[in-house]
Amino acid sequence: MLTRDFFNDVSEKNQVKKALYKLIHKKDSISKVELLHRFHVPNTTMTRMVAELVKRKLIRECGVAESNGGRPSVLYEVVPDAGYLVGVEIARTHVGIMLFDLSFKPVGADQFMITNKHTPEVTIKLIIEGIEHLLTQYRVDPLLGIGIGAVGPIDRKNGVIINPSAFPAKGWLNIPIVSMLKGHFDVPVVLNNGANTAALAEYHANQSLQGESLLYCISGYGIRCGFIKEGQLFYNTQGAASTFEHITIQADGRPCLCGNKGCLSSYVTFGALFDRMKEKGISPSLDQLLNSKDPAVKEIILESARYYGIGIANMINALHPDTVLLHGKLIYHDRKYYEEVVRVARNHTCMKEISIKKGSFGEKATCLGAAIFVFDQFFNE
Ligand SMILES: [Zn+2]
Repeated sequence: MLTRDFFNDVSEKNQVKKALYKLIHKKDSISKVELLHRFHVPNTTMTRMVAELVKRKLIRECGVAESNGGRPSVLYEVVPDAGYLVGVEIARTHVGIMLFDLSFKPVGADQFMITNKHTPEVTIKLIIEGIEHLLTQYRVDPLLGIGIGAVGPIDRKNGVIINPSAFPAKGWLNIPIVSMLKGHFDVPVVLNNGANTAALAEYHANQSLQGESLLYCISGYGIRCGFIKEGQLFYNTQGAASTFEHITIQADGRPCLCGNKGCLSSYVTFGALFDRMKEKGISPSLDQLLNSKDPAVKEIILESARYYGIGIANMINALHPDTVLLHGKLIYHDRKYYEEVVRVARNHTCMKEISIKKGSFGEKATCLGAAIFVFDQFFNE
């Protein structure tokens, strides 16, 4: 039986084996004694199931556990190159494509910028070519699934990108990206909000987050967030914890593209900062924003940090996360901006114990989380 069949087989008999595989996958390595302890089946059944997974080259022996008195117990780990996953990030500025093995280690990557020429047809053709290229370059066998983390709003269930706001190219309306990629690669393809998949990447990688609630906030040309509560992604109807960028932070404030006034978006996005720069006669660009020494630019950035801090505090007070992770060019690039966001967020929430940090995966987070998301689907039947 092929590796692909193992992951796609949803029969009850196979579900038990998949659950065993998932348990081994969760750990770097795990002993047979611990497997028996965690998995309530007779010793003989466990021996048979483990032998089958070893025979299929899905897991392998990787040493012997220290025993306390009893017989030493064999350790097992998953075979990382038994199969591969692709994670795709579709952001407003770029598309990232990454190939991962089954231990979620990056194997290869590709990226292209989004311009006004990147209609859905052009973009999806480039994504397909990018994935094909990685599969050939790294002699991938087999590819198990493709996860996509996209800018919202999306229809997660039907795999459709609805109408990403402020997208540079025309034509992005109700794009059934999942069926388009499925038609080409014939593997499971899933779509989620990029902020959610980024949150998932951090959640999986960080043992200290297990069982906790995590809010992941992305700032840049748009503002987005993902929320994980006790291991589960939180969804509203359009696949995200956000219309985050349209929460009100200033009564009767600046007008927003959505038609309301005083939205977070009108104070914190790059577009909002560019507007402030124009008002002060400074020619706006991302380079200016990240590298200018002009005190007027610095003040614009710090002002937006204060508004962003208030927006995050509102989300904290509503959702009660244990940890908040921040992600975005200014967050990583401008220490004062980051510190001001954190200071103001802390000042405006009553949850004083909360941990607010930078994301640890940087640009890789969305792709990695998308790959983890498609992997998780094999075990969710
Ligand atoms: Zn708005």
